[in-house]
Amino acid sequence: MAVEMPRVKGCQVSECVYNLESACNARAITVGDGATPNCDTFYVASRHARNRNTAGVGACKVTGCRFNDDYECQADEISVGSVESSAMCRTYQSS
Ligand code: SF4
Ligand code: SF4
Repeated sequence: MAVEMPRVKGCQVSECVYNLESACNARAITVGDGATPNCDTFYVASRHARNRNTAGVGACKVTGCRFNDDYECQADEISVGSVESSAMCRTYQSS
C-alpha cells in the first residue's frame, strides 16, 4: 500500500547520517517533541547512510503548528535546517 507523506525537500544539517548533498535520505522522519519542531530522526555516527530515498514526514508531534492535523503534517513539503545547533523543521508556523 502506498502511503502519501509530505516530502522533505531539503535539509541543511550535513552532519546527520541521513544527509547527502543537502537532501534527507531517510525513508521517513519524525518531527517534534510536543512543542519544538526538531527532527527526531537526526543522528550523528561515523558514516553516512548509503540509501537514496526521498524522505517523507511520517509523523509530527507539534500540534501547535498550522500544518499539523491529528499529529500528522499536512504541508506539501517541508525543509529542515540548523537552528541553535539543533535540526529543526523550517516550515513550522505557529497556529
Ligand atoms: S536532520 Fe532530519 S531531515 Fe535532516 S538529514 Fe537528518 S534525518 Fe533527515
Ligand atoms: S510543517 Fe509543522 S506539522 Fe509539518 S513537520 Fe513541520 S512542524 Fe510538523
